[in-house]
Amino acid sequence: MVAEGEGTPSRTAGPRPPDLLRLHEAVAGLFATQGDWRRAYQHLRSALDIARDGSLRDPLTSSYNRRYFDERLYGPFTDRPPFGLALIDLDRFKSVNDTYGHLVGDRVLRRVADLLQENLPPDAFCARYGGEEFVLWLPGVDAGRAVHVVEEARLRVERHPWSDLQPGLRVTISAGLAHEPGAPASPERQLRQADALLYAAKRAGRNKVAYHDPQTTELITHSE
Ligand code: GH3
Ligand code: MG
Ligand code: MG
Repeated sequence: MVAEGEGTPSRTAGPRPPDLLRLHEAVAGLFATQGDWRRAYQHLRSALDIARDGSLRDPLTSSYNRRYFDERLYGPFTDRPPFGLALIDLDRFKSVNDTYGHLVGDRVLRRVADLLQENLPPDAFCARYGGEEFVLWLPGVDAGRAVHVVEEARLRVERHPWSDLQPGLRVTISAGLAHEPGAPASPERQLRQADALLYAAKRAGRNKVAYHDPQTTELITHSE
């Protein structure tokens, strides 16, 4: 699911280029101080803010998108440790599409995104990683709380009244949760751990959260 180096901005090519757009914006802000220039500046500024926000959102689910997630993953890590990262994948989603059609599949994805975004801790966010996969970014939460947050999300999806959307429909998710007690040495490596744990949750029968117990480092695949 997460291939090494897949879609990653080149980190070996040297320092990032300066953000020229932000630089120009700041310079324009300094010069456009009066009358029509000021109004034109403010108009363009709000259009730019809307475009910038839109470019970081997934059009189907309105959650954050892969671009936003990658910016956080490969940018400087500014969150409070400890840090949890969960990779989430819908179970047997292909058969939802095959049985009920892609439009119902799309509605399911929207609803799952809403359910994943409920009750997140401060500074946490959900992003659509791609297809039927999502990530939860969980800064500042200890291992027990991170497990609880992801497990609650799994239960919310399982218990959602899916048959209101389509008679007979059932939807569950599997999750891999990687947790670091301190600031992560590499959030990218942590994502790969979460991916390996997600596979473990799938292998253990799906509708499960897989994580390493912080005391024993034993693999736990948690469900009810
Ligand atoms: P598993 O439990 O092993 O994850 O099985 P799965 O069926 O969920 O996995 P698989 O990778 O075979 O299928 C994923 C499906 O997700 C196939 C693809 O058509 C569907 N999908 C990906 N993106 C979208 C989307 O935006 N809308 C809809 N409706 N389907 C999507
Ligand atoms: Mg998948
Ligand atoms: Mg799937």
